[in-house]
Amino acid sequence: MKIVTVVGARPQFIKAAAGSREIRKEHQEILVHTGQHFDDNMSDIFFREMGIPKPDYNLGISGGSHAQMTANMLVAIEEVLVNEKPDALLVYGDTNSTLAAALAAVKLRIPVFHVEAGNRLGTLENPEEINRITTDHVATLDFCATMDSYEKLAREGLADRSHCVGNIMYDSFLHFADLPWTPNILGLDGKPVEVPDEFYYMTCHRQENTYSDEPLTEILSAMESLDAPTIYAVHPRNHERALRILSKEHFSNIILTQPVGYSDSVHLTKNAKKIVTDSGGLQCEAFYAGVQCVFVLDFVVWPETMVDNRNQLAKADRNDILEKLSKEQKIDPLYQPFGDGHAAEKICGIIRDWEKNK
Ligand code: UDP
Repeated sequence: MKIVTVVGARPQFIKAAAGSREIRKEHQEILVHTGQHFDDNMSDIFFREMGIPKPDYNLGISGGSHAQMTANMLVAIEEVLVNEKPDALLVYGDTNSTLAAALAAVKLRIPVFHVEAGNRLGTLENPEEINRITTDHVATLDFCATMDSYEKLAREGLADRSHCVGNIMYDSFLHFADLPWTPNILGLDGKPVEVPDEFYYMTCHRQENTYSDEPLTEILSAMESLDAPTIYAVHPRNHERALRILSKEHFSNIILTQPVGYSDSVHLTKNAKKIVTDSGGLQCEAFYAGVQCVFVLDFVVWPETMVDNRNQLAKADRNDILEKLSKEQKIDPLYQPFGDGHAAEKICGIIRDWEKNK
């Protein structure tokens, strides 16, 4: 088959690294990058480092309101689909790129395959929730990372098109976690950062935690008081704010870095004392690595990680974060709800069966 894959944001590149490798063994893949993330350290580095094929199209669409971004993508992706006439469209996750591609394809009657389907935060206050729901419902095949996601789709009447295959990010994680690590981390001043023997790893970029100085100051104030420095890989949107807070509050136990590459992120995760994040992907990686995580948000994203203090929700509140960090986790080595690290192969197998029977 000819399959158009649309990606646009960092977590999608990480998923596509595993997906494209497998898809290209038996199909022709046309890769479209919407341009949603465009800096070298938010985009190109993943293509280089993870061996993701060069995109056939780069639409150069980023910024603006949700409506502007999604609308511009919808128009540009429709044009690609009309030109390429693919047999199917493949999308990952829940970004505006995912939604725009799914809508463009379904209106052209091109079957949509959605990887990481069935996640629900249970509230439309989360801007990506509408992207998830819409994409799952217009898709022909929904690939779920966990049984919980599969059951959520079954409750929405989508069981017949849904398959639990495991988390495709786990495929990428296992691959990179086993490779040797040569850190290549730059501070916000562009100078190389030395990784301390003991450290906490933090990412924080969601709107809910970075719309003003207040929530981020609370989070950083918790990190400042810990027994080892924190490496905070700062999303480009928040560079200025993070620098300002550190200087205003005289915080000196926090190392601000530019976004790191995937190998660095995986190895920082594996070697950290604990992790504080508002990232959906990083909390799963913490879980895979057996490193305890505190997730700063009001909503659970991956309920299967929320066991035995392995991942705990915290408010953007210094005391709440410190209290959660003070707890010990318990790890049951037999508990692995994210599959076996072969999600991409399973996805290809199901696509093969679908193609035979359609
Ligand atoms: N990540 C990375 N470099 C960084 C921060 C995160 O490679 O500086 C990786 C992280 O390991 C995880 C993914 O990016 O695999 C998470 O992406 P992000 O936080 O942008 O999105 P979300 O998970 O919230 O959808």
